[in-house]
Amino acid sequence: MVRVIQPKHFLVPIALFLLALFFVYVYYSAIKSKENIYSIIENNMIAEYHELFDNFNNYLIKKQNIHSKNDLFLLFKDKQNRDATEEFLSLSSKNIKYLYILQKDTKGRFRFLLDASKTDKAHFYQKFDVENKAYEEIYKTKKPQIIHQAHIDSLYLTYLYPLVVDGKIVGIANIDIDTSFKKEIAKLITPYELLFQAIVVFIVLIVVLIIFQFFYYYKSRHKLFSDPLTKLFNRHYLKEIVEYLNLNNYAIAMLDLDKFKTINDVYGHDAGDYVLKESAKIFKNSIRDSDIMIRYGGEEFLLLIYTRHKKASNSIEVCERIRTNIEDFDFIYNDQTIDVTVSIGLNLSPVESKTIDNAIKVADQKLYIAKQNGRNMIVTTLSHQEESKLILEKKGVDFVKHAIFDNRVLCFYQPIYDPKTSQIVKYEALVRIKEKDGKIVSPFFFMPNIEHTNIHYKITKLILSMVLDKFENEKLGVSINLNYSDFINKDILKLIEERLTQNKELASRVTFEILESDEIENIELLQTKVQKLHTLGCKISIDDFGSGYSNFKTVLDMEADYLKIDGSLVKNIATSQKDCKVVKNIINFAKDANMKTIAEFVHSKEVYDKLLQLDVDYMQGFFVAEPQPDLQTKALFDNV
Ligand code: GH3
Ligand code: MG
Ligand code: MG
Repeated sequence: MVRVIQPKHFLVPIALFLLALFFVYVYYSAIKSKENIYSIIENNMIAEYHELFDNFNNYLIKKQNIHSKNDLFLLFKDKQNRDATEEFLSLSSKNIKYLYILQKDTKGRFRFLLDASKTDKAHFYQKFDVENKAYEEIYKTKKPQIIHQAHIDSLYLTYLYPLVVDGKIVGIANIDIDTSFKKEIAKLITPYELLFQAIVVFIVLIVVLIIFQFFYYYKSRHKLFSDPLTKLFNRHYLKEIVEYLNLNNYAIAMLDLDKFKTINDVYGHDAGDYVLKESAKIFKNSIRDSDIMIRYGGEEFLLLIYTRHKKASNSIEVCERIRTNIEDFDFIYNDQTIDVTVSIGLNLSPVESKTIDNAIKVADQKLYIAKQNGRNMIVTTLSHQEESKLILEKKGVDFVKHAIFDNRVLCFYQPIYDPKTSQIVKYEALVRIKEKDGKIVSPFFFMPNIEHTNIHYKITKLILSMVLDKFENEKLGVSINLNYSDFINKDILKLIEERLTQNKELASRVTFEILESDEIENIELLQTKVQKLHTLGCKISIDDFGSGYSNFKTVLDMEADYLKIDGSLVKNIATSQKDCKVVKNIINFAKDANMKTIAEFVHSKEVYDKLLQLDVDYMQGFFVAEPQPDLQTKALFDNV
């Protein structure tokens, strides 16, 4: 499953294989060399006995004048001759267990002519039972024979030597070699053998251990990099392969199932899981082995399409195949047919983005456009305007995606204070991301970097749901920040309507803050959205007024309920007469236009007192209360 294998991963199996080969080789050669030692000794002994019997044969012919079987019989019939010969022969070697001379009688049975053995001596002419074919063979070939005595414990081999006179066999010299030489050799070899066995056991143990570790490593790797629900790779896998990934060779697609939340809401979470699992299977069947599909978030998937030596149209084909396969598949859960579609943002040349993070961001922006243009489609190109909005920063799409996936997005609430009643009248919800080490990251570091991406839209929806859930039962007012594109986003407005149409009481406690900025492209469109929110019973507040670009006409057109005076003006109000004058005029303008004013960045008693004089309606800032995860019920100065 791990497609991008690092070179170091090959080392372990290669080392194991070589070790196994070495082990087989050593074992084989050890057995071989032991046998070689035996056969060298055996050959030497046989050569020695062969020479002995050659001499003996000559002695019989020349010195004893033996010319027939009978001559030999008569020679050894004489006890004196027998004793002398037995003594001569028995001296020959310490490895000899039995040494005797046989002769066939007239009936073809073998009989002892003499026995030079030290123990179990046979009598003269005692019968000798023959079982081995070598005894017949020696008569046929007239050549010495060797019998390896595998079945007799104390005997190693029997050497048969034909005593030949005038071309005829007159008797057989028979020598039985015992196993004592083997025992002696064994005594010498055993310590080495034991050492060798210990080494072998050690090697085997090491090999078993390595194999075990190897399997464990791959099993845990597999677990670490695999998403349990869909069996696709998870995000950790991307981190693992990123350093080996050549962006030249890949196109990057971000896929997101459409209206998946609705599937969960209508058919249940289990049905949602079923859709995810089936979709993953369809994805896998729609891509090639060289492509990498990663479950990137809840219902979001990242696809790395291998494009080396391929045309751009090839990546589009892969995405189109996925899109149609999902659309055409019959998702049936508990007899209910579920319509599933997928939107895809495809970045055809990630290499231009330089880093994978930025390349993902581009894909995500395209995904956002796909969602905005009606879903169930692939977007591959952005307009120049869309592209120019790219801000490639470190804490970007990836950072926020991981935070959403890991449930690390949260809200802090900063009280908004009414100095006339000394009451906290509502709270501004401010998004935060908790880093893995617990550090809280302010939106300043990530929100500008995810503008116009699908993840911005996702985090907005998440914050909305989170805040509305929290305030549903709190009976307190809350203020939620939305930017222009959130305001005109049909899906976000729909989410707000779904939550607030049935709950007028909650709606009456909700204020939406919108930044009055040059981003507002279509004031009429914005007006209709604001009217919708007003109909629901919500309030509208204009955020950061007085900073940079401030258009009084737009403010009037927006028909807001509150005007929030920008902190950059408020903070210097006690020291700068100019700023004080601007604030005073803004307050007057707001009164005239029937809007309540909120001063933000109230950081000191001096600023607070000045604002009281200017008759601002509400105040917000560190002097009043800092943003906190919980809802503070008193201003800081009221506590003391
Ligand atoms: P859009 O078309 O704009 O993408 O809308 P959407 O509803 O698909 O997107 P949204 O991000 O609003 O909702 C995604 C939902 O997916 C929210 C979350 O509860 C759900 N989800 C995330 N992970 C899982 C999961 O493992 N199983 C199930 N059943 N649901 C999941
Ligand atoms: Mg979705
Ligand atoms: Mg605000």
